[in-house]
Amino acid sequence: MADHTRDWRADLVTAYPDLFDPTASDPPAARGWPWVEKGWRDLLERACVRIRAALEAEGGTFHATQIKEKFGTLRFYWEGTLSPRASARVEEAVDLAEARSAVTCEICGEPGVLHGDRWVTTRCSKHAEGRRPIETDPDDGIYVFERVVGTRREVRHRRYDRETDSFIDVDLPGDEET
Ligand SMILES: [Zn+2]
Repeated sequence: MADHTRDWRADLVTAYPDLFDPTASDPPAARGWPWVEKGWRDLLERACVRIRAALEAEGGTFHATQIKEKFGTLRFYWEGTLSPRASARVEEAVDLAEARSAVTCEICGEPGVLHGDRWVTTRCSKHAEGRRPIETDPDDGIYVFERVVGTRREVRHRRYDRETDSFIDVDLPGDEET
């Protein structure tokens, strides 16, 4: 069995015990143990910094429940009791991490794109392992942002900008606030 106590993931979950609640003797037993490769360490750390800042500012409880790769990108599941403001900040942090995973090689952390056919991964050309880049539609990079605050429903379209690690609003016909 691999020695997970010397793993980068053990360092991450023990650096953020408030988010992962690991046991010292067995960090991989933490529910949010990230089952992803090291190239995504940085984007997970960015998410943890943002989530901790949101909790410190807004209060509430948070627990990472599952972090994994699916269809080539990150899935970050959590549960908690948060105010709408805190929840919005946490969701934003998770959205940014998931969007970044779609443009970051899971092996080395360099810029990457989706590769493969039946087994899809996000890789740089060096770590593509023979899989071909997937032709993507320009619309694939557009994320639908939807929030309900009180009775107000907000729908926006955004594109992830890797350079600034932020979302940029894209105006599409039909975007409006109701
Ligand atoms: Zn790579």
